Amino acid sequence: MNVLFRNASLCASRTLCDLAVVDGHIHFPQDSEDIRYDRVIEADGRIVFKGFADIHTHLDKALVADKVKNQSGTLEEAISIMGPYKASMSDEDIRERAEKVLQMCWQNGTRYIRTHVDVDRHIGVRSVQVLKQLKDEWADRIRLEIVAFPQEGIVEDHGNYLALEDALKAGADLIGGIPANEADPAEHIRMIFALAVKYDCDIDMHIDENDNPESLTILELARQTIENHYQGRVFAGHLCSLGSCDENTVSRVMHAVKQARIQIISLPSTNLYLEGRGDRTCVRRGIAPIKTIMDSYGIPTAIASDNIRDPFNPFGNGNPLQTALIAAHGCHMGGVHDLENLFYAVSETPMRMMGLDPVFREGDVCPVVMLDAVSAEEAIISQSKIIEF
Ligand SMILES: [Zn+2]
Repeated sequence: MNVLFRNASLCASRTLCDLAVVDGHIHFPQDSEDIRYDRVIEADGRIVFKGFADIHTHLDKALVADKVKNQSGTLEEAISIMGPYKASMSDEDIRERAEKVLQMCWQNGTRYIRTHVDVDRHIGVRSVQVLKQLKDEWADRIRLEIVAFPQEGIVEDHGNYLALEDALKAGADLIGGIPANEADPAEHIRMIFALAVKYDCDIDMHIDENDNPESLTILELARQTIENHYQGRVFAGHLCSLGSCDENTVSRVMHAVKQARIQIISLPSTNLYLEGRGDRTCVRRGIAPIKTIMDSYGIPTAIASDNIRDPFNPFGNGNPLQTALIAAHGCHMGGVHDLENLFYAVSETPMRMMGLDPVFREGDVCPVVMLDAVSAEEAIISQSKIIEF
């Protein structure tokens, strides 16, 4: 089907132009052309783009909140109750829940997802294998990346480390990590780099997901990134502890991050829910200072859903515009410039992080998503829906 979008706003830019899909390829029509279109859509300035990217989620654990109840609402309880439950999850159960979330994400305009998948000696690589199947089955709708994630730690449990290597052999695209939860974070990072180098894969870690301003394993991650010549291949998720640090410390960390070309992924919904649990008054928000990071340091920063209705976070609907709105509240980002940055943080920035080009080019074969909004601020404030065509 040949479709013409007349007066479309490409991505969040306010430049209007005509965009067409001809025989499955992107085409920018010229006045002199005589192409027969099956549909002509009057976009009237609405955003037409390649779709949203949710670069940090957990499809294997999603939608279990009703079965695994977190009474305290803390990260510690979430990890401790999810541990034994994971081993009992059947492949069919994992598949059914993950596919439900993929469907939710698809309906909200998401076309690219990076999911962390738990790997340990109890569940082995079963979840990775299920997600690998879904990755193939959904390839024509959503591009899925799988991160092998050692939630239960590896330094003191060699069985978990062996399972992590098995996950890379089984087809995981990236290797994850969670150093701050180990007694020896530097060793955790060293062990992850050893596997990353061996299998030539990128690294995407859960970093400093706590309120302790002295928890700065990000500095060790930056140091080892340079030591291993891995600049540009490492992603740091969370960085919650930075939300409790003074400005000088944030500046010191950001310079190290920039030098190591580490890219940042903030998870505002889960952070607002889990962090600050020890505070009775002046409850901290527990989110990395993304406005400062974006505006003052120019470090690529994405935001993502993280957990969707599991013991870590009972909320979430697979809608990146909801993630952006939560970030807008949590990070005091309500200006037009802020909202544009947040829109990019759920679309163009994470796409680039996944090695994809978010800009439409003549001849591209790519998803085309149309939003019922003429600007980033309208999309986020109105929580605009996508328009089917
Ligand atoms: Zn996560």
